[in-house]
Amino acid sequence: MKAFNSVLRGYGTTVFEVFSLLAREHDAINLGQGFPDEDGPADLIEAAAAALGTHPNQYPPMMGLSELRQAVAGHDRRFYGIDADWQRQVLVTCGATEALASALFALIEPGDEVVLFEPLYDSYIPIVRRAGGIPRLVRLAPPDWRLDAGALAAAFSARTKLVLLNTPMNPAAKVFTRAELEAIAALLAAHDAYAVCDEVYEHLVFGPHAHVPLMTLPGMAKRCVRIASAGKSFSMTGWKVGYVTAAPELLAPIAKAHQFLTFTIAPNLQRAVALGLTKERAYFDGLAKTQAGKRDRLARGLRAIGFEVLETQGTYFLTAGFKGLGFNGDDVSFCRHLTETAKVTALPVSAFYEGGGVDGYVRFCFCKRDAVLDEAVARLEHHFGGAGGG
Ligand code: PMP
Ligand code: GLN
Repeated sequence: MKAFNSVLRGYGTTVFEVFSLLAREHDAINLGQGFPDEDGPADLIEAAAAALGTHPNQYPPMMGLSELRQAVAGHDRRFYGIDADWQRQVLVTCGATEALASALFALIEPGDEVVLFEPLYDSYIPIVRRAGGIPRLVRLAPPDWRLDAGALAAAFSARTKLVLLNTPMNPAAKVFTRAELEAIAALLAAHDAYAVCDEVYEHLVFGPHAHVPLMTLPGMAKRCVRIASAGKSFSMTGWKVGYVTAAPELLAPIAKAHQFLTFTIAPNLQRAVALGLTKERAYFDGLAKTQAGKRDRLARGLRAIGFEVLETQGTYFLTAGFKGLGFNGDDVSFCRHLTETAKVTALPVSAFYEGGGVDGYVRFCFCKRDAVLDEAVARLEHHFGGAGGG
């Protein structure tokens, strides 16, 4: 039999799926894969349910329902002052994942270089490679996730086509500062390159940090593709409704990739997300405030056990170092061990680096009910206090 595609052959099942299955198998509290354990706003669920009965359930327009595209443009204007024409600059996709794939397939020519920041979300590199791109990795490392200006500049060359930037950044929980964004913007301008900006955690940012879309920096509107997701902003990760804002010239090829990948998204979910994006600022502030409380709750518990808890500026993830706990093994075996014996699942941070090289840290997801976080901490306390570090 002939071989399957050589890029995809090199990858196994994603770390999210592997550890969620393991958590289920061992009846562990799953603080691995990132998803809230409570659904988002009830009025969105009601709107989605009602739309099934009151509106056609046939293909919506390829670019997305006009009410959602208008809501995306309105949201971007309200929060960031982005001036986007919804008819030419907004596209609805099947989650941010499809938006990323469509953008990368649309912009990359075989042989183009793509600058990415590690640690990174797992779909980035496989899709860059499948599109024929060559990843140029800039490594940020715990505990401070500092962006080294020299390493950043060295990653660029005459062949750089684009940068894939995730801020707030999963799993580092880092929010890029304006100064860091300015450094990236200067390199994009100098190399005539684009930026695909994964901003799915835009509303999960904790004071004093603030989310700045790279697109809003001088000269960047024509170079940036801004991607966000209802899954994160409305705590409905299963809905898979994403949206893209970009200059008309940039959006046109992305829409072509989208039409051949998924073409369109469930119409009732689009209607509900349109309602969500027009919610008052208080809703979005409340989301961040609630999650900040959960972050602090889990951080306190983990610190008391002896984990080294790193700062979470944004996202709903917390990175914790386990070297002080006396465990003899790498982060992958630590996560397996925790799941199997303490019955709590976290993810190894090394899984977010190509070729590893970072060890001793795990990622906990804290968007769970307080009682669940407390129970997870109690289990870990019992394990490390009573049973030792294994
Ligand atoms: N980008 C990042 C950084 C993510 O963490 C995730 C996963 N939640 C996604 C993209 C995918 O988003 P979606 O579920 O909307 O496809
Ligand atoms: N983004 C989620 C995370 O980082 C997982 C998404 C997925 O499972 N594909 O946990």
